[in-house]
Amino acid sequence: MVEKTLFIIKPDATKRGIIGKILARIENEDFKIVELKSLKLSKKKAEKFYKIHQGKPFYPELTDFMSSGKIIVCLLAREKGVKYLREVVGATDPELAKPNTLRNLFGTSIRENAVHASDSKKTADWEISFFF
Ligand code: GDP
Repeated sequence: MVEKTLFIIKPDATKRGIIGKILARIENEDFKIVELKSLKLSKKKAEKFYKIHQGKPFYPELTDFMSSGKIIVCLLAREKGVKYLREVVGATDPELAKPNTLRNLFGTSIRENAVHASDSKKTADWEISFFF
């Protein structure tokens, strides 16, 4: 079944000028880019997006980082897209991410890990409606 999922290129990656490289990989993995926009999150909007992590030690740092620069937000579609995108993205910590995953290639720390991908169909629906 074709599934929709949400993908974000985070501020570390937009600053480093690797948007094109990341989107080329996404298209090479047969994702259709259904919608795409560039924006800067306010601290408040970043807090809302990551509200599931409220109270965790890294929450202030994460929401500062996510509101620190431009992001690219994409609505993607692909067969089994939610799970497949998580595989292409790799583990949260780039040091633990499998070779050739986006975070292994482009992430520099557990916080500055280049990209975001929805972790379930339910989350994807919520995240898509958050941005589109
Ligand atoms: P994801 O689904 O793989 O993005 O991971 P999570 O939902 O657990 O965390 C959301 C985001 O918070 C991650 O992508 C990281 O940018 C950041 N993050 C997660 N764990 C940590 C941590 O232990 N320290 C810091 N500084 N950031 C973290």
